[in-house]
Amino acid sequence: MFHFCPSCASPQIQFEGNTRFRCPSCGFVYYHNIAAATGCIIDTDEGILLLVRAKEPAQGKLDLPGGFVSLGEGVVEGLRRECQEEIGWDPGLHFSFFASFPNTYPYWGILYNTCDLFFTLNAPGLHRADLHLEREEIEGIRFIKPSELLMEDLAFDSTRRVMQAFLAAYYPQGPEGL
Ligand SMILES: [Zn+2]
Repeated sequence: MFHFCPSCASPQIQFEGNTRFRCPSCGFVYYHNIAAATGCIIDTDEGILLLVRAKEPAQGKLDLPGGFVSLGEGVVEGLRRECQEEIGWDPGLHFSFFASFPNTYPYWGILYNTCDLFFTLNAPGLHRADLHLEREEIEGIRFIKPSELLMEDLAFDSTRRVMQAFLAAYYPQGPEGL
């Protein structure tokens, strides 16, 4: 990420313990901390709402509404903002925390390590016509029945893990019982 110290331009800068950059020449330290990110499983009468990613990483794969929490934001308000931006819909603040998994997100040559926090929201009456997509980020939407969800279509490791946990918790009987 850094080839030279951002403070004194020394090429001696080192990445230590997978957490921080340290410059032995001037003592500069920069912690490359994990970033907080959110995702929401919106369960509707038509199925679970998934977004088709328009951009890399994982272009064309399915993802949950959500994204990085911004500076100065709480997790819930960050998730609400992302829903408003990505699908043009205000979900309110009544998310229920469900699970958290780590993830990595490569962007412009930098690997961001994230702590993904996943929430659930029941929105039985939500329909396609209620949503307005952020076309730069989102190619399309799918409402997918739990029995028809394929893990290989999901964008990220954390998305696959949370959907497996969600299906096990809420749809444990599998396709036959639905
Ligand atoms: Zn330095």
